[in-house]
Amino acid sequence: MNELLVFMCDGAPVRGEIVSIGTAWQAVLERRNDPPAIRKILGDFVGAATLLTASLKFNGTLIIQAQSKGPIQLLVVECKSDLSMRATVKLSVDPSKISPDASLGELLDANNTGRLVITLDPADREPGQPPYQGIVALQDHQGTVIKPVTSAAEAIALYMQNSEQLETRIWLSSNETHVGGLLLQRLPDSGGHAHLDPQVAAEGWSRIQTLGETITSEELLTLPPATILRRLFLEESVENGVRSFPPRPISFACRCSRAKVADVLRMLGQDEVQSIIDEQGIVETFCDFCAKPYRFDAVDCEQVFKTDLLSDATRPPSGGH
Ligand SMILES: [Zn+2]
Repeated sequence: MNELLVFMCDGAPVRGEIVSIGTAWQAVLERRNDPPAIRKILGDFVGAATLLTASLKFNGTLIIQAQSKGPIQLLVVECKSDLSMRATVKLSVDPSKISPDASLGELLDANNTGRLVITLDPADREPGQPPYQGIVALQDHQGTVIKPVTSAAEAIALYMQNSEQLETRIWLSSNETHVGGLLLQRLPDSGGHAHLDPQVAAEGWSRIQTLGETITSEELLTLPPATILRRLFLEESVENGVRSFPPRPISFACRCSRAKVADVLRMLGQDEVQSIIDEQGIVETFCDFCAKPYRFDAVDCEQVFKTDLLSDATRPPSGGH
């Protein structure tokens, strides 16, 4: 099961999403060797990335990056509008030193240095035009009280509150084989639900949240989205009906290529690359996301820098990739 279901409520100003990811998540894990506490956090962010991507009217790539001076140096999840995704984590400590019960706050140093960067990179972005970025400190400031964020769901909800200005609730769960998630978003009263009395709308949002709160991790990890939807909203009456749209498939897909690795070598510079060749006879690198190996021998490297000598005038147009 790799799918995401979008639903709308007729009797409440709510749009919701339920996601269930199985083999696509296993495809991420089988290429990696992360300790359990890290897999859990990565899984939750994979769920969050698919839910966020599907909630935005946008064609491009959504990138969730968590950075800290804690054990997780960098965590990246990318999800394209077609819901193909990839994910990676870079640790700054020996993985065997990470306790299975380590919390997100500890791993991402939420007290101090941790932050979340969410980037929306449109497919049709003009060269030179920066992508949209939102940055969230991993602390929840409630008046003078500052408390560290303790879960991926909490971090994403904070981001949504700050950027989308829409009240959002999110529930995430992940294990060794599955990722599951539920997102509820309150739509503006002025939108398609303008027919609802403000008080009815407020009560509807509150009622749907209460139903959402009954979701369990077990259900998120084991049931297909359509079954979860039926279970959650069994009590909504016919006139308050919940409508769902055809489920959207989710897949694992890496976008690495030999050409992109060659670009990295060019950025390193010919002297640096030559010194690696002198020392090791070959430049070998592995994709951070899918672990695919890329090998460049002396002749390949020579070719890489020859290409770079072409002036822009003689280089074929890049075609906007
Ligand atoms: Zn790759």
